[in-house]
Amino acid sequence: MSGPYRHLFGPVRSRRLGLSLGLDLVPPKVCSFDCPYCQVGATTSKTLERREYVPVAEVLAEFDRWQAADGRADCITLAGSGEPTLHSRFGDVLKGVARRSSLKRVLLSNGSLFSLPEVRAAAAQADVVKGTLSAWDDESFRAVHHPHASLVFADFFEGLVAMRKAFGGDYWLEVFIVPGRNDQDAQVRQIADLARAIGPDHIHLNTAVRPSADVTVQAVSHARLAELAALFTPVAEVAASGRPADGASGGHVVGDLTERLCAMAGRHPATAEEMAAALGMELQAVISLLAQLVADARLKAEQRGGAVYFTAA
Ligand code: SF4
Repeated sequence: MSGPYRHLFGPVRSRRLGLSLGLDLVPPKVCSFDCPYCQVGATTSKTLERREYVPVAEVLAEFDRWQAADGRADCITLAGSGEPTLHSRFGDVLKGVARRSSLKRVLLSNGSLFSLPEVRAAAAQADVVKGTLSAWDDESFRAVHHPHASLVFADFFEGLVAMRKAFGGDYWLEVFIVPGRNDQDAQVRQIADLARAIGPDHIHLNTAVRPSADVTVQAVSHARLAELAALFTPVAEVAASGRPADGASGGHVVGDLTERLCAMAGRHPATAEEMAAALGMELQAVISLLAQLVADARLKAEQRGGAVYFTAA
């Protein structure tokens, strides 16, 4: 019995994680931030309220069903339509997955709740934890992330430090560069100094290669990211162009194909090539389906940086 799934998506192939099964624990778009570069779209519920947005039992039952029907991935990644640590029982989800499978568990977070001991304890159930550091003071924090009004940069930073101390697994920091807000050498040096004090295992430099919540947000060039990467210790890794690095197939279709294409495009703008790679399909077949979905006004196509991205209509 296969799909459709309400909380699982993909798997999608990712350069760093291999074949990654996504798990969405909050509805779109519940987040503590409203980053102008967000690929999911504008935050509709900017909150710090932690609650069981979706029932843990339902999520784990869906995971059991996926394992029985599809079951092939390298890792399971808590990410998706908002901030996963806002789910009050995300640690129980990680524990439940660990009891059921040997999949690597990955938590992609903005780190805004790492100042809470209970969130750090739950996050430590993952094998890989990613937080975000793209600012150096309160003013830049607000410019880059539009955080919830109660969040203060100093506490946020201390939370990232405390998470490092509490976590023996693989700790990643993402630094998102937004032109005009945090892309000057002096600004990035300040971020790099703070990152050094945190001591992550890896630092990833990223920029808005896909359509963003705020359409005026542009990407910096790959060459500029490479220059900035050298300011970090350890030297930052420059994120890929947004396309899967190896372009390999091997993803497994979860649920009805048309619905999967709509779901993928609804979560993150994606190219036909990315969807074909994620679904293990011939590119031409995906292009035909996408053309039909655009004609039916279920998806729309947008040009960005020489590529065509598909998003929800
Ligand atoms: S990029 Fe992440 S942290 Fe920022 S608004 Fe989107 S989901 Fe929230």
